[in-house]
Amino acid sequence: MKQRPGASALVVGAVSDVGRVRTGNEDAFIAEQSVFGVADGMGGHQAGEVASAIAVQMLRDRLAGGAASIELAEAAVVEANTAIFNGARDNAEQRGMGTTLTAMIVLADGDPIRQFVLLNVGDSRTYRVRGGQLRRITVDHSYVQELVATGHITEAEARTHPRRNIVTRALGIESTVRVDSWVLPFVKGDRYLLCSDGLVDEVADTEIAQIVATHNDAQDAAQALVDAANEHGGRDNVTVVVIDVLEGDVSPDDTADLDRDLVWSDPAA
Ligand code: MN
Repeated sequence: MKQRPGASALVVGAVSDVGRVRTGNEDAFIAEQSVFGVADGMGGHQAGEVASAIAVQMLRDRLAGGAASIELAEAAVVEANTAIFNGARDNAEQRGMGTTLTAMIVLADGDPIRQFVLLNVGDSRTYRVRGGQLRRITVDHSYVQELVATGHITEAEARTHPRRNIVTRALGIESTVRVDSWVLPFVKGDRYLLCSDGLVDEVADTEIAQIVATHNDAQDAAQALVDAANEHGGRDNVTVVVIDVLEGDVSPDDTADLDRDLVWSDPAA
């Protein structure tokens, strides 16, 4: 039987929880052999649940065995955008629905050097832990992130800002979407966290780093992060996917960590 690329090299844990305040869970996730993602839906009358489910299902349908190319991975996200946008247009009770999506897909392009493609739209996040250091890899598409980027507020102020939940980009809101994407090599010992804002609004990065450092098992780590969000109030749905990379390159020195390859994907171009 043909081995799925990277399948044996990864261990994954995943937990999604409604939290302590909300009555429904509008987050969704996928954590399968080559496809990992977190989507945080928005919209009334359970429409957010519909949007996040469409996004995750599209990844499952199009990329279950990994992505043959970066372009095909991005195309699946663009296709999810179209499906959600059309659903919102055609169903009155789903008007205005949308979802964030942060996803990592194993590149199955035949290259012996195994890699992930990381895709992001919205304010769910992907972090990487390497050498004990937690680093946010994705850039939030949010109002407060723009204020941080332009120097108007600090990261700390962004965490408590009254408008911190305004997203500036999401799937399903417009007929086209720009998708941030990065290519990341498998590095032995790396741990990735994909999470909805229900985690990061409740638990500061320093505490996230402590929790992941003290839970060796990926599933235990995911559960401990969700528990921490709930202990801090659980005011939103919270979803965490943890991926441990067991095989791959030896860890590069920490400066190599900074060479992020950000590519804009503009479907209108
Ligand atoms: Mn949320």
